[in-house]
Amino acid sequence: MRKLSAVVPAIIGGERVLTGAAFDVIDPSSGTVVGQVALCGPPEVDRAVAAARTAFRTTWRHVSAAGRARHLRAIAAIFQQHADELAELETLDTGKPLSQSRIDVGFAIRYFEYYANMVEAVFGDVIPVGTDRLTLAIREPHGVTGHIVPWNYPLGLSTRTIAPSIAAGNCCVLKPAEDASLTPSRISELALEAGLPAGVLNCVTGPGGVTGQALVEHHDVDYISFTGSVPVGHRIAAAAAHTLTPVALELGGKSPNIVFADADLDEAAPVLARSIIQNAGQTCSAGSRLLVADEVHDELQGRLVEIFRATRIGPGEEDPDLGPVISAKQLGSVTDMIERGKQEATLLTGGGRAAEPRLAGGYFVEPTLFGDVAPEASIFQQEIFGPVLTLTRFRDIDEAIELANGTEYGLVSGVWTGSISTAHRMIQELDSGQVMVNTFSNGVELPFSGRRKSGYGVEKGYDGLLAFTKVKGAVIAWSRS
Ligand code: NAD
Repeated sequence: MRKLSAVVPAIIGGERVLTGAAFDVIDPSSGTVVGQVALCGPPEVDRAVAAARTAFRTTWRHVSAAGRARHLRAIAAIFQQHADELAELETLDTGKPLSQSRIDVGFAIRYFEYYANMVEAVFGDVIPVGTDRLTLAIREPHGVTGHIVPWNYPLGLSTRTIAPSIAAGNCCVLKPAEDASLTPSRISELALEAGLPAGVLNCVTGPGGVTGQALVEHHDVDYISFTGSVPVGHRIAAAAAHTLTPVALELGGKSPNIVFADADLDEAAPVLARSIIQNAGQTCSAGSRLLVADEVHDELQGRLVEIFRATRIGPGEEDPDLGPVISAKQLGSVTDMIERGKQEATLLTGGGRAAEPRLAGGYFVEPTLFGDVAPEASIFQQEIFGPVLTLTRFRDIDEAIELANGTEYGLVSGVWTGSISTAHRMIQELDSGQVMVNTFSNGVELPFSGRRKSGYGVEKGYDGLLAFTKVKGAVIAWSRS
């Protein structure tokens, strides 16, 4: 098994920083310590925010959009050169199957390319007021942006917000999750090697309650982008209210896939299974609730049981279908929810830790399917963040809509139907930030946002770039003298 040869550094003001304190990196596939990461406290967060502020004032805000785009392309290119290394690090840190990590590297590259292409097309507006004055709405960067990301997609979620932020002219302080800091530190280092000026991208590693809190409570941060759980989202919003810092919250989900009787089950079944097995179900937008029309319910249930039972489970480096969950803590929380599910519904397959003796040291959970799940059940209502799918039947479209909208979350919904009018109605009635019809995947182009407990703010797409700007109104009156 691979071990890291040196302590993974924080990246502050263009320097690799070791702090004298460190925390362990645990390989979720074996439960063993494979390395250490520098632990940043409030002094390092201060240094990082100051470095970002200096870079913003002296350098980055004066670089043209074309110049910023060139830097973003150079970063995408260096990620491409290091694609294998980044994918291996991601798998070591998170346990995810290697091919999934390769896809995540592809997303990281694409975010930088996409926003490099787009940033020269952020124009602002000229507002028609009269001939005696020119009235402008100018797009400006916020300044210093703080980025707090979770452990489930460290590469994908870090780059999802730092690429548009840097593109828009901001300087960033990135705070990765303590369970997955390797690639965020490495990409910050690679960005420097690609020529990004010192201080434009800083990475402070450490626990949420120490490092993350110091960042959100800092008075010199102009905007906070948070991706993570609802309880921490509440705390971040409260801290941001205290400093009056604007904040975007991308939180949890309990996303439904709604399968109508006229759906193509051959197309749907593998996608539905993948939408919960992928990344061991640890995806905010995982399709964790399946709502199925009476007419096709038993047929689809049978197909899913078959797919779940055929799932290959193993360490990420073997590139199985399903790797471990991230940590012993997550393993405990997922298996607790499975036990609750056994009291609330019918267990159709799975139902505990993976049985193979060679996997005993890692945090492996069987793909688990529950049938006859009532909308009041906790496994229907709560985000489990593991490979656990609930199955609930519906009679007609009205019941499907009520069930789909019947949780506190509103992130993503999938609709499976052969009818354009069913698709049309569902897109309008579903109270979620995204609706996908006859697919459950999307790229960097689709705006991504939550409703209700899934948070507020927007990432990805053109709106995701505008989120990292603020508007300044300016008027120039015509002098008659
Ligand atoms: P988490 O909320 O525990 O942690 C997220 C980040 O916040 C980590 O970096 C953590 O160190 C930091 N943090 C924790 N306490 C903090 C504090 N007091 N102050 C500042 N920072 C603090 O979430 P997690 O367990 O890492 O991730 C899983 C959650 O993230 C799930 O709920 C999932 O749905 C959500 N998520 C949402 C999206 C989305 O786009 N909506 C994407 C991925 C994950």
